[in-house]
Amino acid sequence: MLRRLAAVSALFCCAFASAATPMLVIHGGAGVIRKDLTPEKEKFVRADLETALKAGYAVLKDGGSSLDAVGKAIVVLEDSPRFNAGKGAVFTHDGRNELDAAIMDGATMRVGAIAGVHRVKNPVLLARAVMDKSPHVFMVGDGAEAFAKSVGIELVDPSYFRTDERWQQLQDALKAEAAKQQSSLGRMIHYGTVGAVALDKAGHLAAATSTGGMTNKRYGRVGDSPIIGAGTYANAHCAVSATGWGEYYIRSVAAHDICARVEYAKEPIAQAAKEVVMDVVPKLGGDGGVIALDDQGNFTTPFNTDGMYRGWVDKDGKVHVAILSD
Ligand code: ASP
Repeated sequence: MLRRLAAVSALFCCAFASAATPMLVIHGGAGVIRKDLTPEKEKFVRADLETALKAGYAVLKDGGSSLDAVGKAIVVLEDSPRFNAGKGAVFTHDGRNELDAAIMDGATMRVGAIAGVHRVKNPVLLARAVMDKSPHVFMVGDGAEAFAKSVGIELVDPSYFRTDERWQQLQDALKAEAAKQQSSLGRMIHYGTVGAVALDKAGHLAAATSTGGMTNKRYGRVGDSPIIGAGTYANAHCAVSATGWGEYYIRSVAAHDICARVEYAKEPIAQAAKEVVMDVVPKLGGDGGVIALDDQGNFTTPFNTDGMYRGWVDKDGKVHVAILSD
């Protein structure tokens, strides 16, 4: 009798596990500054986040993979000029746009990442191609662009990425730096990186992040976004995408730390993410936020900045978007 009960409950467990309720959570950066958020800007940002959520969720609803869903959502945000990824990326000290991205498949722990490209229209697609079509996991600069060309990834003239708003942010950063008001990196609190985490019907998690980095960055600087375990991470139990001051997310290996707390210390994902974002990173001197999702569909979006552009599709398929902390 006991054996039969065990068999029934095992069946129930696996039938349930193989039909997880799909979940999608995205962010558009943690550097929202309350005073800069005009009603018009808010309207456009909300619309873009909703479009990205709908695009990614359509994949999940049709039984597609979490990996495809995060890629779809991120392409929408990369194509929008309102986020610091793809078109609208921030400028380096030298007035260029240098883009970084990563994608990770939690089920297989396969990874693709790229950094320092300046002609790839959708960096997340190149990261995916590195994962699917090369024996490597991380490519940078000219080599990554040569690979992009060889696999038919769309390249654009570098001027495609420019927006006047980002150009002005660089001018402000240069002025402030000259007046010695900033750190040597020339930090500006305009984090607009984009990221997505998803759970598909098969119960598999994925994470992806795409960014222009930080305004006024130089010397081939690479942030946390394309570094696996720092700004992007996914395994069978947990998926994370971060935004914020990348140097500190790298030093704290933030995304992996969150997932390790979930897996080894059995912490609920909300607690694990909160500890890292509100305690570990700030203690080092950094700030920012994350989106994190577990294999049961529990998710959390902690940040310690004014706000974080974010959105999710709930278990009933309803789309939600939020910006400030209140
Ligand atoms: N984390 C990114 C970086 O440091 C910046 C951002 O979140 O916007 O490159």
